[in-house]
Amino acid sequence: MALYADLHRHLGGALHPRIIYKFLQKNDHAILNYFPDYDGFYSWFTRPCRTLEEFVKIHTLVEELQSVEHLPYFCLRLCRGAYTFENLQYLELRYNPYFRTDHKLPVAKRLGQMNLIVETITANLRPAEYPITVKQIICLDRRLPTNINEAILKVAKDNLGPVVGVDLAGPEIEPEKWEVWVRLLAKARACGLKTTAHLGETNIDNVHPQYFTVLDRIGHGIHIPLIKPEYLKDLSKRQITLEVCPTSYKQTGVLKDLSRLKTVFDRCRAEGVAIAICTDNPGRNPAPCTLPGEYERLIDNDVIDFTELKQIQNESFRSAFGYAGPPRP
Ligand SMILES: [Zn+2]
Repeated sequence: MALYADLHRHLGGALHPRIIYKFLQKNDHAILNYFPDYDGFYSWFTRPCRTLEEFVKIHTLVEELQSVEHLPYFCLRLCRGAYTFENLQYLELRYNPYFRTDHKLPVAKRLGQMNLIVETITANLRPAEYPITVKQIICLDRRLPTNINEAILKVAKDNLGPVVGVDLAGPEIEPEKWEVWVRLLAKARACGLKTTAHLGETNIDNVHPQYFTVLDRIGHGIHIPLIKPEYLKDLSKRQITLEVCPTSYKQTGVLKDLSRLKTVFDRCRAEGVAIAICTDNPGRNPAPCTLPGEYERLIDNDVIDFTELKQIQNESFRSAFGYAGPPRP
């Protein structure tokens, strides 16, 4: 059996819509008033959006469902699904612990709850019958104030081991605040955490070269080879890997056509910049939404050649933040 690694998957977008729907039924959730049957829910949940902001709104709904008492339910299902249906050997799962705290509590109490969120996730990502290794990446968020992001970073540091890195997530707003994020990411690195950031996903505005000094990988970054290919030399020198998530770009309205990714792969290959193919939010994509499905779509659209596939798959293991297994053949 072929075994793969996925380095960019959000806890809020990882679950099959059927699992979410069953959960809503079990809990008699008010949203079912709008969706009395599964088909209606499925179409709404997996529909392509016009913008990343619109896409993120539905993501927020799922984050609120994933409160501390329900996290074991979701974690078990996503681990066994990833192993059984996608042949994943290694997964880096990312999430924002603050968004999973109790929204009714004052901020200070919510900050205090974050450690329990991480510990609960850690305890439920080791399903005995499914030998998949799942490591965690904790997300900072551009929409949150600095003191909350500092607290998120501290929780990541306190859980180093099961947590292997931090990510900068949220819509690509306020590009002028790059110094704030570069400082936080540098601090994360100094604590022994690896770093990645959602950058250059929807446009090039947020891509400031100073980010390259503090990042191990870049989430998406596809607008770097598309709009600023002159930056690729620096990425190559610093061995920064791009996490490319093909179907996501269609779902968030970033690309109309996957064939545009051919330029991304061609330019990165020419400059020696590694790409890891990832899934981002597979539960939000129309089925089949698996990592092997993404490989197939790239070949189908002539973005990559079948003969490159093995090497590209190995790139994910090589660029992983917490893979401790044997070198891939
Ligand atoms: Zn993402």
